[in-house]
Amino acid sequence: MAQTLVHGGVQEVSGNGANWTSPDYLDEQQCLSSMERVFNVCATCRRCLTFCATFPNLFDLIDESEGADVSSVPKSKYLDLSDQCHLCDQCHVGHCPYSAPHTEQINFPGIMQRAKAVKFAQGLVNTSSVIKPHSPITHLAGIPVITAWVNTVVASPVGRKVIERYTGIDSQARLPHLAKRTFRQEQSSLIARGSASASLVQDHGQVPRQVAIFTSCYVNFHEPEVGRDLVDILQHHGIECVLPEVDVCCGRTRLNAGDLAGFAEAAKMSVANLAAHARQGYAIVSPSPLCARIFTHQLPSLFPADENIQMVKQAFWSPSEYLMALHGEGALDTEFNRSLGVVNYHEPFFGGSHLDIARHTEALLGLVPDTQVNVIKGSPGFGGDWGIRRENFPMAMKIGQTVFKRMADNSPDYLSADCQLSGRQIASAIDTLRLFQTPDKKPELAHPLTLLRMAYGL
Ligand code: SF4
Ligand code: SF4
Repeated sequence: MAQTLVHGGVQEVSGNGANWTSPDYLDEQQCLSSMERVFNVCATCRRCLTFCATFPNLFDLIDESEGADVSSVPKSKYLDLSDQCHLCDQCHVGHCPYSAPHTEQINFPGIMQRAKAVKFAQGLVNTSSVIKPHSPITHLAGIPVITAWVNTVVASPVGRKVIERYTGIDSQARLPHLAKRTFRQEQSSLIARGSASASLVQDHGQVPRQVAIFTSCYVNFHEPEVGRDLVDILQHHGIECVLPEVDVCCGRTRLNAGDLAGFAEAAKMSVANLAAHARQGYAIVSPSPLCARIFTHQLPSLFPADENIQMVKQAFWSPSEYLMALHGEGALDTEFNRSLGVVNYHEPFFGGSHLDIARHTEALLGLVPDTQVNVIKGSPGFGGDWGIRRENFPMAMKIGQTVFKRMADNSPDYLSADCQLSGRQIASAIDTLRLFQTPDKKPELAHPLTLLRMAYGL
């Protein structure tokens, strides 16, 4: 639970921004004092050196300062460190030995989130440079002429140079194509108009046999195939699927920009509708681990007393968690038509989710006969959208190198990741770096749901 610490008379937010509405939260001096306290602990620990660019930058600032200690680093450099952080929580939950219940109660992502918010409040974040993957252009997915035009530009080296110039997205970074038809267009018959079914009766203690799918912008606009695989698998098991009427962006990019109010506003647009389904006993399942994390971790941290948000959190499942729970009740079909061979699977790189996605996905794919699932842990470097920016791309490729190499090892038949965006970036980096040991056998990238659907022969 979030607590307020007092260090040298300075109120410090130790939770993940839980009291962000307090006027003190945006007080720059208090924020800087908190950062100094945290940096002093990190300077002697240094366990997180390889997680992202934030820590190498921090330690360089310390080591290159006049006194080679935190007190010699000009405080004017502190806030900008948060630009390197994409709030993955990997340096915190289950990792930092100084996090609560330790008396130091270090929460590095918490203080980075606060620094981002202070910068945003001071107008120091150039919002036009904040990457908006769900820009107005993205929302034109599904319109054939526009989709074809955008995809042609994205595929052309000249087009990519133009995009880089105007958006700051590195021309070498992989950009997703727009779908010819969005997932919600394809599956419009599943959209639950009005409120959730009032006639639904939930058997307590059982896995719900009704699922509301929170699509995610990525699946909706870029890879509807993944959503279709989820629907096919659920319907194969006789599960009722619906798409909530309101399904808008969870606001992750606003959170990363420090716009906490904007993030809350965006995320809450979907919450009321999702909570209505949760109240009716629906499981809420999203094929996007990043969106799942917003609803199960970041939003509940910011609004611990909001009943709807807490209800949505409790009802949320990852697809593999849900299917393994069905398996626990003997309700999962274990008759598969084919094996998958060797699957190199990348574990989502973030801490703090109760969904335990990788463990469930490994167990689920492991049910398929003659299938070997190798779970690869570590940072793929990109951190959502952070690594595709021109100024971050070389560092992202460096940070992700170990993961890229491990994913290419053991002559896999498939590369896979629950976060399809990360999976695409990893596959693209492996190609760019020519890491496959057997160039004549190029493994296909396939989402775990796609692999499962294939194994069933659906
Ligand atoms: S966040 Fe924790 S584990 Fe990481 S360097 Fe700082 S004190 Fe060490
Ligand atoms: S939360 Fe993630 S990106 Fe931010 S400092 Fe920690 S490891 Fe780095």
